[in-house]
Amino acid sequence: MLGETTVDDGSAEPNTTHTAAGELADAIRTTLGPNGLDKMVVGENGTVIVTNDGSSIIEWMDITHPVGRLVEQAATAQDSAVGDGTTTAVVLVGALLEEAATLRSDGFHPTTIIDGYVRAVEAALDQLEQYERSLHSRHDDRLTQIAKTAVTGRWDDASTDRFAELTLSALQAVDFDTSRLTLKSYPGGELRDSVCLDGVVVDLETSSTSLEALSHPSIQTHDEPAIAMVDAEIGIEEPTSIESVELQDATQRNAFQNHEQDRKTELVEQVVQSGATVLFCQKTIDEAVRTALAQRGVLPVERTRRDEFDVIARATGSTPVMAVDDLTVDDTGTVESVIQRTVGTTQTLTLQGCPEEQRATLLLRGGTPHVAEEVRRIVADCIDVTRVTLDDGAFLPGGGAVPAALAMDIAALSRGIPDRTQIVFDGFGTALEAIPRTLATNAGADSLNTLTTIKRRHDAGSETVGVGPDGHPRDMIAAGVLEPATVFRSALQRAVAVVTQILRVDDIVRTSADERRTDAEHDHAHAATGGYPWAVGH
Ligand code: ADP
Ligand code: MG
Repeated sequence: MLGETTVDDGSAEPNTTHTAAGELADAIRTTLGPNGLDKMVVGENGTVIVTNDGSSIIEWMDITHPVGRLVEQAATAQDSAVGDGTTTAVVLVGALLEEAATLRSDGFHPTTIIDGYVRAVEAALDQLEQYERSLHSRHDDRLTQIAKTAVTGRWDDASTDRFAELTLSALQAVDFDTSRLTLKSYPGGELRDSVCLDGVVVDLETSSTSLEALSHPSIQTHDEPAIAMVDAEIGIEEPTSIESVELQDATQRNAFQNHEQDRKTELVEQVVQSGATVLFCQKTIDEAVRTALAQRGVLPVERTRRDEFDVIARATGSTPVMAVDDLTVDDTGTVESVIQRTVGTTQTLTLQGCPEEQRATLLLRGGTPHVAEEVRRIVADCIDVTRVTLDDGAFLPGGGAVPAALAMDIAALSRGIPDRTQIVFDGFGTALEAIPRTLATNAGADSLNTLTTIKRRHDAGSETVGVGPDGHPRDMIAAGVLEPATVFRSALQRAVAVVTQILRVDDIVRTSADERRTDAEHDHAHAATGGYPWAVGH
């Protein structure tokens, strides 16, 4: 159907759909790469975030234009699938649409452009394989470089180095099984105080224990402590059928109090009998029971968070019981040691050396809650790219070396194409160059000079030359600027998919508009959105 309708009027007028996606690309283009500028995003309720992470910026923008939304969805999908490369994808979308607009003004029909782009991306993906390299093993140092490249520019160099190293040591500690790794970030302290701990860290801010219990000399450190777990409240059971008991005289009152006292002693005895030295309770523990337990050398921890409770049970081999009366020595588990630590203003307990499940916790520190949160995101991104790289072990030189090389490959291929698709291929190649060009511009270098030098060096056989962090051509492998092959591949695929979608929608819109066309109507539709794709609330 599309092929039968000739709608091109040769007008070079930018249309709203291209403008919407183009403006989104313009807005985040300046954040690409190690020299990307920070953006301040103001949320509807006045909250402000400062970041140069493309995906966070897009997430915070209130994009209302449908085409802007398409690009946003592609970026979000890229982020959730591979955790990186969102800015790359959006910059590619902008460049491909820009080339499409030029092709349109030269009289190309959208369908021809779409077909050409689809063929060109297939060719590019074929060529891509020759630039891929493989990790030697999971302990390959280049994984740290890949993690670092993914978060370069998000913080100072020394810190990003540290985050990448911390992430890798944590992942190695759990044999790259991320389900056994916990990330916790705490405000206060310095970034460099962030550490990777072997074991489970229990936050006593939410799980609580009395301070006097913690300071009791017998429970300052526990070596090979026995861990007991109770999945119910510990205390005097509330009478269920009788609402209230009237105590008529002193004797009755005494008897009642004695009974309560006896029951509490019984509970404490039961715990002590089980040999437990640390008791985790998922609900509350009666205060008198807590105090008595501490006096008997048992560290009571109440209101342990459900997720932590389950992890502790698994890692220590302890079997949670539903009532203290059921607790026996067989139900207890163990760890090598339990260590108490104050992180920032938070008291924590670390269960170190879990016999049943090797676990690690990354304790991240940042001056303010904002910083702590950003640090958590940075480390999560390091984890994501490491995981993605390990899936197939393939990585690429970064800094735009690969898109530059692919642009040259596409140019070479286009020379063999006999029809007008050749020009579409050339446009596609030029769009790929947007990555090295943007990286150079963002570093304050002359993008044309940089690109020309890179091409010359590629021609001379150095295909791993890209844009260095200072904007000048450098060998990316030597500089350790490496990225997972999957991230670039997927950014390119998504970009082309969303661009063809936009070109198709645009074609349909223009076709139906043309059929009922009056010029006034057409212009009106354009003016209505003003080409402005989103609104950031005040
Ligand atoms: P994205 O959202 O696409 O991941 P980034 O802002 O993280 O965007 O920038 C990624 C680009 O920056 C990639 O092309 C990557 O190779 C490049 N890059 C990252 N670190 C460096 C570096 N130290 N030197 C040169 N280029 C780098
Ligand atoms: Mg990135």
